[in-house]
Amino acid sequence: MRVTKFPLYTLKESPADAELVSHQLMLRAGMIRRLASGLYTWLPTGLRVLRKVENIVREEMNRSGAVEVLMPSIQPSELWEESGRWDQFGPELLRIQDRHTRDYCYGPTHEEVITDIARRELRSYRQLPVNFYQIQTKFRDEIRPRFGVMRAREFSMKDAYSFHMTNECLQSTYEVMYATYSCIFSRLGLRFKAVEADTGSIGGNVSHEFHVLAESGEDAIAFSTESDYAANVELAPTAPLQVGHSTSLQPLEKVATPDQHSIEDVCAFLDVPPDQVAKTLVVRSSSGSLIALILRGDHDLNAAKAQKLDDVADPLTFANEQEIQAMLGCKTGSLGPFDLNCPLIIDHAAYALENFICGANEDGFHFIGANWARDLARFNQYESRDLRKIVSGDASPDGKGLIQVKRGIEVGHIFQLGDKYSTALGASVLNKDGEEQIVKMGCYGIGVSRVVAAAIEQNFDRQGIIWPQSIAPFDISIIPISAKKSRQVIETSEWLYRELENSGLEVLYDDRELRAGLLFADHELIGIPHRIVVSERGLSQNSIEYKHRRDPQALQIPAESILQFIRDRMRESVQKA
Ligand code: ATP
Ligand code: MG
Repeated sequence: MRVTKFPLYTLKESPADAELVSHQLMLRAGMIRRLASGLYTWLPTGLRVLRKVENIVREEMNRSGAVEVLMPSIQPSELWEESGRWDQFGPELLRIQDRHTRDYCYGPTHEEVITDIARRELRSYRQLPVNFYQIQTKFRDEIRPRFGVMRAREFSMKDAYSFHMTNECLQSTYEVMYATYSCIFSRLGLRFKAVEADTGSIGGNVSHEFHVLAESGEDAIAFSTESDYAANVELAPTAPLQVGHSTSLQPLEKVATPDQHSIEDVCAFLDVPPDQVAKTLVVRSSSGSLIALILRGDHDLNAAKAQKLDDVADPLTFANEQEIQAMLGCKTGSLGPFDLNCPLIIDHAAYALENFICGANEDGFHFIGANWARDLARFNQYESRDLRKIVSGDASPDGKGLIQVKRGIEVGHIFQLGDKYSTALGASVLNKDGEEQIVKMGCYGIGVSRVVAAAIEQNFDRQGIIWPQSIAPFDISIIPISAKKSRQVIETSEWLYRELENSGLEVLYDDRELRAGLLFADHELIGIPHRIVVSERGLSQNSIEYKHRRDPQALQIPAESILQFIRDRMRESVQKA
């Protein structure tokens, strides 16, 4: 491709509203442009990368035995009413009406549509297992679209759905998908990790997420230092701690803490660390009354765990100031577990506290020297549960080693759904005995457009993007220097362009009449892995310059061996990837 025919649309400066490196670089490298919140146009350079990701995903899905389909992005509300998700899904679901005022949604995911296909087309156990996939545009009205295509509202997803007679068969396809995902992310040149995950609103029981490891990731992943254990912190359980039996119980004492409301304030005022303090959060119960959740001051509530408890409303809803005042008779800043007029759920770590500090349910006062066992009579009905997010230094849930928390970007997610959708929509087939049997399902997603941003988060430097070979928009750049002044430079560049294209490489030939510095800057920004520079000075010494995007120094290669040299280099970088 000649740059005069393939507009690059690069920008010198980072747009002010782009916080994340990948977002800045995708804008600067002319890959995407914003249309409105969470909506992006893919420009020519960006689209080449997106298509390469799609192709790798498609090749590996086909290789795994899955078959491609393409479902509509607009879906009728009736299907979602059958599954129960029309009311459940909340504002992420973009609801629309047609001219006949019929309700539709723009699909955030396609379990309903594919299950409808399954119940119509699948008749007999002989047709199973089958795994359908598509690469298609989704819309989710995200509460905070941000970071460009990383968390967009409209985005591209590969979603697959498998159908089975038995859980064993589902498990075996799940394992094939797990292996296929590992292969896909390896081919994409990403450093990734599969972790145990929560099933969220999609449902089901077994699930893994695939994360690209990057500081900027929105998710926190818990790893064991000594085993393969890895899980999203939303899921990673924390075990009950040894409850001590201190022989030196301090007396319970109410102390004045005027104007000290937050944990930090109270800790500073009383000169104690936050792990000596119990904090009290009040949430709605599933029956609409209130429940107090008690955590250690240095720990964070894990909403996913809390809302799974029977007594706690799902989704987790915090009580507001008025409710707390009306039902419990105290203010939020002084809340504590003593004499509180509602049930308590105490996190395991908070339950192991002794001689601790907590709010006194009286404005401007706290208790010191509190102890669960001794002061039992003053606590309402209570139980100890796992409520918090696991943190670095906690014991690994598999009993091996300690936990280390790292950041990740979720690029894929696989689920064993079981019969949630097939039961709701009545997808059954005849089994060997001629009886109708509800089928089992799995579903498997990859954030195709998010992968592009995630790849940049792992591969950049001050000059710009450094694409893994497999998804680079072009394999190699040819940059002629002062071509206008030298016939030989033009002829050599044109010859190289022809030869390299003929050998199957994707070449970006920069035939613009710009200063060398500007040309170099554009190609480095866009991140093309290999670069050739043809100059009069080089040619006068019979050499052509070569540089890999990751190399610190350029090499001078004798003109007659440049083609062979590049072929060797390409082979090496493909092998490395
Ligand atoms: P997240 O937790 O990041 O919101 P999710 O759990 O809602 O994602 P899934 O329903 O598992 O996502 O969708 C499959 C994949 O689609 C995700 O693993 C992710 O890579 C991608 N994805 C989800 N939401 C977005 C989005 N708003 N923008 C871009 N990609 C997305
Ligand atoms: Mg997910």
